[in-house]
Amino acid sequence: MGILERRKEVKILIVEDNPTNMKLISNLIKKAAYEVLGAADANAGIAMAREERPDLILMDIQLPGMDGLTATGILKNDEKTRHIPVIALTSYAMKGDEERMTAAGCDGYLAKPIRYKELLQTVESFLREKHP
Ligand code: MN
Repeated sequence: MGILERRKEVKILIVEDNPTNMKLISNLIKKAAYEVLGAADANAGIAMAREERPDLILMDIQLPGMDGLTATGILKNDEKTRHIPVIALTSYAMKGDEERMTAAGCDGYLAKPIRYKELLQTVESFLREKHP
């Protein structure tokens, strides 16, 4: 099976409240031929993760209502979803943020603006552990 066919079987959930960012990130993911799921807030993202069991989650940190770190903590405390790698999307990579993201259970993070090559490399590094 070729790499693009294999990627079609990989579901990536994007949790992002900003429609412009959502469109941009989901276009980048689609360009790489992965299947895309989207949720605009933490509650919808958690529900979708439980229902769809994506292979990876891209989680915006700043969300209306529940923030992305709290949502990640909930997913990591649920045995049905704890195995799913969560990559935090952050627009402010300040000192201490990395520790906060790790403490919340995030497996990695990407700083906005999101660039295609970096996104793809990060996503692939987490998927490789599951789909070698
Ligand atoms: Mn946001």
